[in-house]
Amino acid sequence: MAAAIFGGMWDLLLTDANLATMRGGRYGAIERGAVGIAGGRIAYAGPAGELPDAPGRLAREVESLDGRWVTPGLIDCHTHLVYGGNRAREFEQRLQGATYEDIARAGGGIVSTVRATRDASETRLAQDAAARLRRLMDDGVTTVEIKSGYGLDTPTEIKMLRVARLLGELTGVDVRTTFLGAHALPPEYAGRADAYIDLVCGEMLPAVAAAQLADAVDVFCERIAFSPEQTARVFDRAAALGLPVKLHADQLSDSGGAALAARFHALSAEHLEFTSEEGVRAMAGAGTVAVLLPGAFYFLRETRLPPIDALRAAGVPIAVATDCNPGSSPLTSMLLALNMACTLFRLTPEEALAGATAHAAQALGLGASHGTLEVGKAADLVAWDIESPAELAYAMGANPRHATWKRGVRAP
Ligand SMILES: [Zn+2]
Repeated sequence: MAAAIFGGMWDLLLTDANLATMRGGRYGAIERGAVGIAGGRIAYAGPAGELPDAPGRLAREVESLDGRWVTPGLIDCHTHLVYGGNRAREFEQRLQGATYEDIARAGGGIVSTVRATRDASETRLAQDAAARLRRLMDDGVTTVEIKSGYGLDTPTEIKMLRVARLLGELTGVDVRTTFLGAHALPPEYAGRADAYIDLVCGEMLPAVAAAQLADAVDVFCERIAFSPEQTARVFDRAAALGLPVKLHADQLSDSGGAALAARFHALSAEHLEFTSEEGVRAMAGAGTVAVLLPGAFYFLRETRLPPIDALRAAGVPIAVATDCNPGSSPLTSMLLALNMACTLFRLTPEEALAGATAHAAQALGLGASHGTLEVGKAADLVAWDIESPAELAYAMGANPRHATWKRGVRAP
């Protein structure tokens, strides 16, 4: 029996729908279900046969979905959506035989994105990122996380986060912002990583926190980026400012990133290809979500798989995200990310969909308000032209989205 919110008529009642509620990270399927919406929140999600009254007496508007499936709106919990330029030319050069060093010497790589992002106006950054966000929305995304990290100086990091916040206002999508000042070492700090971390902790983080521009703080902890000690300095500062943390961990080597994230009770640790069983156990103990990024694995042609069996055995919630970024994952489709999570990482379609809904919400600290079809949660829903929820991860390049409701309002 599904609980329902009573008191006044609902705004909308969707009937003749099959529901993948994703409660507890499972399909939680309800065939011949109905969803009631009031004040932007879910007022009912359960069997149509258990509705407390006739549809016309429950809601001002009733819409039949003709047997379509309804899921929670998809959540892309790890993106670098705001950036200047792109790296298509570099992609081409590599396939023509240029080495990483050739490209770096010609000014390519992340440095080129940093330069383009510093040079771009706020308007231009917003236009480019909005186009990418619209592609994500096209296949059902209603909440997105956006990281800074291509400014690597205070004004540009602030600019990126302001653009990220603006995108939420422009599109109606819930945008969660993450400060990733410790993403890479800017060229002007070459060989002086500790001095750059001083800048991140002493100037950038306090400025970002004072302007309330970040919902979380992230670091790229890796041999080619920042050490566990430098990461811990940033996390200590984030904790002092009351900001939760996330971590790019163990993508290219096991640097103990997962355990470090757990030590700071991180919301999530992300990538995790080289995470040890010990790291997995630490994450389980801390309630840290594992965010898998199959787009980067694919694009970089990685071969080392994240420890999926160990994550499952330890009961670590697994999320899946696009990692949309110009260098290693120019991916703007959550549905394709779901397919890749299944084909490359061997997640089941149910695990992949949980990774884009319930567990992705948890990775953003939104587990209580988003990610499942449950009474009281945000009425973020997608109706799909599919016969079973597995089709969302199965099809490649298809887009069966029929309609999206964001906080109960039909989105374009
Ligand atoms: Zn990333």
